[in-house]
Formats: sequence, C-alpha cells, structure tokens
Amino acid sequence: MTGQELPRIVTAVPGPRSRALAQRLAAVENPEVTCLAEPPPIFWSRGTGVNVLDADGNRYVDLLAGFGAAILGYAHPELTAALAAQAGELQHAMGDVYPAVCKVELLEALVRVLPGGLGGVILSSSGSDAVESALKTALVATGRPGVVAFEGAYHGLGLGALDATHRAEFRAPFVARLAGHTRFVPWGDAEAARRAARESDAGAILFEPIQGRGGLVFPPTGFVAALREIADETGALLIADEVYTGMGRTGRWLACEHEGVVPDVVALGKALGGGLPLSACVGRPEVMQHWPASRGEALHTSTHLGNPVVCAAGLAVLRVLERDSLVKRAEEVGARWLARLRSVLARSPHVREVRGRGLLLAVELDDASFSRASVARLLRAGWITLGEGADGRTLALTPPLVIAESLLDAAAERLSELLA
Ligand code: PMP
Repeated sequence: MTGQELPRIVTAVPGPRSRALAQRLAAVENPEVTCLAEPPPIFWSRGTGVNVLDADGNRYVDLLAGFGAAILGYAHPELTAALAAQAGELQHAMGDVYPAVCKVELLEALVRVLPGGLGGVILSSSGSDAVESALKTALVATGRPGVVAFEGAYHGLGLGALDATHRAEFRAPFVARLAGHTRFVPWGDAEAARRAARESDAGAILFEPIQGRGGLVFPPTGFVAALREIADETGALLIADEVYTGMGRTGRWLACEHEGVVPDVVALGKALGGGLPLSACVGRPEVMQHWPASRGEALHTSTHLGNPVVCAAGLAVLRVLERDSLVKRAEEVGARWLARLRSVLARSPHVREVRGRGLLLAVELDDASFSRASVARLLRAGWITLGEGADGRTLALTPPLVIAESLLDAAAERLSELLA
C-alpha cells in the first residue's frame, strides 16, 4: 500500500507557506476557531495512506487518523473510487423525503455489523448530532429528561450535547442556553451513578466506553456492566457514546463489546465516514420503536441526512474494514504496539502510564507543559499526535487501522527519544 512512508521534513515547521496561510486565515475566520498563536499550525494539502503533506511539502505520519476519523488513512483507493463513482451518479438527495438508493445500502450494511440487534438508525453529520439524536430518543422513550453523565465527559458542543459535556470552559459562556438536566458524577463511581439516576429519575445514563477527550481514560473493571444494571433497575436508557471508540478502533466494532454490554442506544461518528461527515444514532428495536412513524414531516431530520456521497463513503469504509479484517488487525497490531511502547518508554521519567485497547493508545505524561512541548517536538520530527485531557497531559495515539507495523516501530523509537 502506498502512503506508508517515514516522515520527511524539508523546511522549518511550520514552513513559510503555512505561515502565510495562517495570516490569510486570520483575516477571514472567527478567531475562536483555529489557534494561530505562535507557532501557527501546519496547513495540510494532501493525504495518502497514513502520510499527510503540508503546504510546504513536508511529509508527516498521522498517528491520530485526523481525530480518529480517517480509519482507512487518506485517499484509500476503494474509498476514493467509491466517492468518484457516487459523485458522478448523484451528489445530493432529499434525505427523509426522497432518499438516495445508497442510504438504504449503508444502513443495511451498518446494522449487519453491529452487535445485539442494534438498528433503527438515525443518520446525521457530526458526533454531536448523533448524541443529540440519542438524547432525544431517551426523552421520547422514557418521557424523563434527566441525564446522568460523567466528570471528564465530552459529547460534543451543540447546545443539546453540550449540556452533557463536562469541561467548564466549553460550558461557561453558554450555560444560560443549556437545558441543565445533566447530573455529573465521578467517572468510574457506579454507586454515585446509581444514586444520581434514582434521585433525578434519569431517562438516560450517557457514557463513553473509554473517555476520549477527557484523556483516554479507561473504565474500572465492571463499571460499564454496573451501568447496564443501574439502567435496568431504574428504567433509564443506557447510551454509549462510541463516536471516538466505535467502528473497530479498539479491536471490536463497539468498545462496549469488551465489557460484554449491549447499550440501549449508541452514538457513532468519526470513523463511520472514514473522514467524511457521517454520524449515526442506533438503538435496540424496542427502544427505537418509541419514535412515531413519519407521516410526511419528520420529527428529527436535516437537509443533508443520508447525503449520497457521504453514504457511499460509509459503505466503502464498512466494506474495506470487513474484507481486510481490519478490526481484528487493530486488536493484534495494537496489542503488539502497546507492549513495544511500554518497553521503550519504561525508563522515561516523564511517562506516568502507557495504556491502550486495539489502536486506541495513550501515553500519559506527568506534566502539561512537557506534553505540549512534546507534541510540538514530535510534529517537527514529522509525527502528528495531540494532547488530550483537560490539561492536555495525555498523548493520544489513534492511527489509521491500516498503518504499517514498521511505522509503529519507528514511532515508538521516536517517542522514546523525544520523551526521554
Ligand atoms: N463524542 C465523543 C466521545 C467525541 O470524542 C466527540 C468528538 N471528539 C464527539 C462526541 C463530538 O463529535 P463531533 O466533534 O463530530 O461533533
């Protein structure tokens, strides 16, 4: 496969073209969006396999799969061919009124790979949208608006999802617009979740099987199973936000499968579209049937729901994941890389913990400013990573599932040098 090259850095990082683009962007984009403080970001111009080229011609290895979305890497030949073919056939349809043929095909393929009979799909574009569909589902199904969520949770920034996102800086300016129906309890504390669910008569318990933006924090053993029990006891729906963890990254289609738990509702995004904007809310049939059948005016839809080009991408992603057994590959390759990272980083004084499941790995460092400096040093060496957690102390490593093991070995060597 092409696009499995080591980094090649030929200018300063960022180079002159990226610097010029940063200036142009500053003139036209709202300043809250892209951080243009010194040093400004690199601007991407091309992606092939796991390699990304910036505007100055520097070649990087993307150890993040672009926020976890580019699960097949960039310009995967089958994904590219599917997009080109669909773009020539039909680029837009009337999502919930006159749907595109490939919407049906995508939903059939998706439901087939999901465990536990999950279906009744509601498509959307962003992870935040999928969470909001799930929260609406809980209200429609239970009539109870209360939500139990967890400290450290990230569920998106739309006004509905934001009510369940924990980090104060995201919420503070908008608190007056939030529904205020969420009770946050400490991550991993099943007893606190049980109390909160009972006291607030919650209609939903919303959780990430592995907290992603909260710092790639794993649940304690038995915690997710306990949430399932609490939901069953109280009649709340168990909603798994698998936007980050879903579609094979952890070595199972859903990370909940590692816990032996089938949630009532699941939010999917990121990897689902392989880099195109596609997300979905799926649920158990007995839950999803609480939505009334549309009589011509959908209760919950949007203009671009089921966009044919995006659906064609989703179909191609599912086809390649299945055919090339990439979910199993994530489990096997991820386990080997985890062992390797643990061994090369064992003596690094700044490394607190190396953890992972499948190809979702994290290197937790002891200090936020060291972490920021490390991300910048890795970038200058051609390796793209990101700091996660409220203080950015945890390096996320979520590469495309197709990444060559030789590159993972090279990345481990680099990390051990730069984190020493
Ligand atoms: N849920 C989780 C678990 C996420 O990690 C994210 C994004 N990082 C979201 C929801 C929101 O997704 P989006 O940014 O596509 O709205």
